[in-house]
Amino acid sequence: MRKYALVTGGSRGIGRAISVQLAKQGYTVIVNYKSNAEEAQKTLDLITETGGEGELLPFDVENVSEVTAVLNGWMEQHPDAYIEALINNAGIRKDNLMFWMTDDEWNDVVNTTLNGTFYITRLLIKYMLSKKNGRIVNIVSISGLKGVAGQVNYSAAKAGVIGLTKALALEAAKKKVTVNAVAPGFIETDMTKDLNQEELKKTVPLGRFGKAEEVAELVGFLASEKAAYITGEVISVSGGL
Ligand code: NAP
Repeated sequence: MRKYALVTGGSRGIGRAISVQLAKQGYTVIVNYKSNAEEAQKTLDLITETGGEGELLPFDVENVSEVTAVLNGWMEQHPDAYIEALINNAGIRKDNLMFWMTDDEWNDVVNTTLNGTFYITRLLIKYMLSKKNGRIVNIVSISGLKGVAGQVNYSAAKAGVIGLTKALALEAAKKKVTVNAVAPGFIETDMTKDLNQEELKKTVPLGRFGKAEEVAELVGFLASEKAAYITGEVISVSGGL
């Protein structure tokens, strides 16, 4: 029987690396994205090139009716399967100082990161609980652990996901479903391409930005059988930041 993993925001960056990693571990990977079909297809091509299997499943994580319709549709088409691993990775940044921050900048970031994680996890966890098996990994950020100036929306949304992770880990533990969070520091992706890497890397103890694959390795471990005794944790991949 196939083991399915859903990676939200799998078309680019960290989500792409996670999708490839999980496929290498034997998961059939459902690659979610919002609009970038071309990049999503590249992720799927990478999965198949490495001998893995996957499929594309576009939906907007912040739109609860779309999330519900698309995921319930997938369940109907796969009546004997369930999604065993969920990686809540989709995220956006809309930085601004608090006193200039617009309602849209606040709501877009909170809706994508925090509400999106809630909508999808609420829908999929019931299958994991009834099967007494499941792995949820939420991609948060150092920004949600420490706070970053100019990111009150992003820091708040990621801190919210950290709270969700810890509370849900307690709810789900009896059914052998683990829930953990991974907190990247600066990782080279589209999300950080507007940052001054030369300056910022001086603030990182290991002296460089990380690679998406370095985050994916840890996510792969947390989504594996080997991590069965780890739950409710937030683990950083940040070069010591
Ligand atoms: P990225 O390169 O900008 O990719 C973002 C991904 O999220 C894309 O696949 C995008 O899909 C998807 N996405 C955005 N909004 C979505 C929505 N409403 N519904 C569905 N998918 C959506 O970002 P990244 O750097 O890989 O970041 C991935 C995660 O890591 C995020 O949660 C981010 O906050 C976190 N993180 C990143 C860093 C870093 O340094 N890069 C550091 C800490 C945490 P489309 O291609 O369709 O737009």
